[in-house]
Amino acid sequence: MERTSTDGVARALLPRFNLKVSVVVASAAAREARAKHQLQTAAASLLGQALTGAALMASLQKDNSRINLQLECDGALRGLLVDASATGEVRGYVKNPYVDVELAEGAFRWRGALGNKGFLSVLRDVGEGEFYRSSVELTAMALADDLNRYFDVSEQVATRLALDVVAEPGEPLSMVAGVLIQALPDGDAKVLESLGAALPERLHAALRALPSVSAETLLQTVFAELSPQVTMTGPVMWKCTCSKERVLSTLASLGRAEVQDIFDTQGSTAVTCQFCSTRHEATFHDLVALLESMGATPRN
Ligand SMILES: [Zn+2]
Repeated sequence: MERTSTDGVARALLPRFNLKVSVVVASAAAREARAKHQLQTAAASLLGQALTGAALMASLQKDNSRINLQLECDGALRGLLVDASATGEVRGYVKNPYVDVELAEGAFRWRGALGNKGFLSVLRDVGEGEFYRSSVELTAMALADDLNRYFDVSEQVATRLALDVVAEPGEPLSMVAGVLIQALPDGDAKVLESLGAALPERLHAALRALPSVSAETLLQTVFAELSPQVTMTGPVMWKCTCSKERVLSTLASLGRAEVQDIFDTQGSTAVTCQFCSTRHEATFHDLVALLESMGATPRN
């Protein structure tokens, strides 16, 4: 029987311990990222994990905020950048899409792709021009473990996260999902620690057991005996904010002389969005209209 996976996010409280939890399923989003960037399997898996991790962190934020997760490393992947909104939109890219090195399960699984050193940087854009950035050195060379270290070093609130990718014959990104636990004020630190340590195992077992995975079924299975009270469910989807209009306004910001120069020397231009590989063209007519709107009389 084929198992199904539906993208989404669910949040819940574990009222007995004053903990809150978030669960994200991002299998389809990860596959879309793979298709957009034509990623090899290991690169696709790492980007899928990063999209999931960022979506989990963004799910704790207010509606108009975003999380950017940036990783730089000396391994073949070289790095990645993902962007997630609190409303469940995710996008991202890796520096080297051709990475297909995944070692056996265990501590060295991602060493081939990530190498031996690097850093992980988290930018929280909480809206109204307010940003918080914090970085840690990579030590585990595994995304979930290094994110947990980031929480220990950079966040005031105790937080634990687990990420997993389950492969099935013919589909290496069959299930891409993650779970996060965070303490509320007066949260039970001991329970958070022991639950956090068991989280990868719990997530993995639930992903393998469920015939149809959604954020809510996953949440109910991972935290089955802890009586989770679901507080919110919502979508998670691949979505890029780029558009031709944005490309034109970026061109406009270069100034009239620069646009005139592009027009004179090239006649048209194109910009490829790093996040989604979409190629946006500014045609001859677009440049004429842009120059006119900038008060120039285009010569050509
Ligand atoms: Zn884009």
